[in-house]
Amino acid sequence: DTSHGRILYLEDVRVSFDGFKAINGLNLDIAPGELRCIIGPNGAGKTTMMDIITGKTRPDSGTVFFGSTIDLLRYKEPEIAALGIGRKFQKPTVFEELTVFENLELALATHKGVWPSMTFGLNGEQKDRLAEVLQTIHLKDSVRRRSGDLSHGQKQWLEIGMLLMQEPKLLLLDEPVAGMTDEETARTAELFLSLKGKHSLMVVEHDMSFIRAISEKVTVLCDGAVLAEGTLDQVQADERVIEVYLGR
Ligand code: ADP
Repeated sequence: DTSHGRILYLEDVRVSFDGFKAINGLNLDIAPGELRCIIGPNGAGKTTMMDIITGKTRPDSGTVFFGSTIDLLRYKEPEIAALGIGRKFQKPTVFEELTVFENLELALATHKGVWPSMTFGLNGEQKDRLAEVLQTIHLKDSVRRRSGDLSHGQKQWLEIGMLLMQEPKLLLLDEPVAGMTDEETARTAELFLSLKGKHSLMVVEHDMSFIRAISEKVTVLCDGAVLAEGTLDQVQADERVIEVYLGR
C-alpha cells in the first residue's frame, strides 16, 4: 500500500475550456516532505493544475486526493485552504501599511478567526511559532518595519511567512524567485531547503539554477499532462523536453 507515502495524488485529471483540453490526463504523486519543482512551457497547464488542487477550478473528471483519505473534489476553495493547502501567487500581497509583525499576526488571525493581540495577546505557542517563522524567513531584525519599505525579496519571504503561520501541510508556490536579485534568490533557496521535510512543497519555476539548488525531483508539464519526471539533469537530457523548449 503506497497511499501512506503521498501527500498529494492526481490521477487522470482532465479539464476543458470551451473544448480546449487545458489539463489532459494529468497524473501526479507527491510524497510527504517532498519539494517538487514543476516546469513546462507557457500554456502547459501549470496554473490550471494549481487551480484544480486549490479548488478554484473544478476538473471535468479524474481523482484528486490530499493524503490518502481526503477527496479534494468534495471541498470548496476556502475549505481546501483550511485543510492545510497554502498557495502563493507570483506577486506579493502583503499589507504594505502594516509592520512585518502585524502581517504575520493577521495571517494567524484570519486562520483562527480572531485577532490575537486585540483580544488576549499571542499565547505561548503562537509566540514560539512567530519567532520560528521570523527566523525562517530571514526577517528577525525587521519585525517592526513597515512592510511597504521591505525589498521585493523580503516581501516575498514575508508572504511565505504568512502562509507558514497557518501551518500548511502542502504549499503551492508560483515563481517564487521571479524579480529577485541573485543574493535574494540564493537566500530563498536556503529558505526552501529549511522547509523541506517539515512541509511538502510544489514550486512552479523557470529559474533553472534555483531549481538545481532546491530540488531533487522535477516534473515537466506539457499540453496538460506530464511529459517527463526525474532529476533536473535527467529531464534536461530528455529529447522530448528539449523539443518542447527549443523546437516549437
Ligand atoms: P501555464 O500556467 O502552464 O502557462 P495555464 O494553466 O495558464 O498554463 O493554461 C493552460 C491552457 O489553458 C492555456 O492554453 C490557457 O490559454 C488555457 N486556459 C487556462 N485557463 C483558461 C480559462 N479560464 N478559459 C479558457 N482557457 C483557459
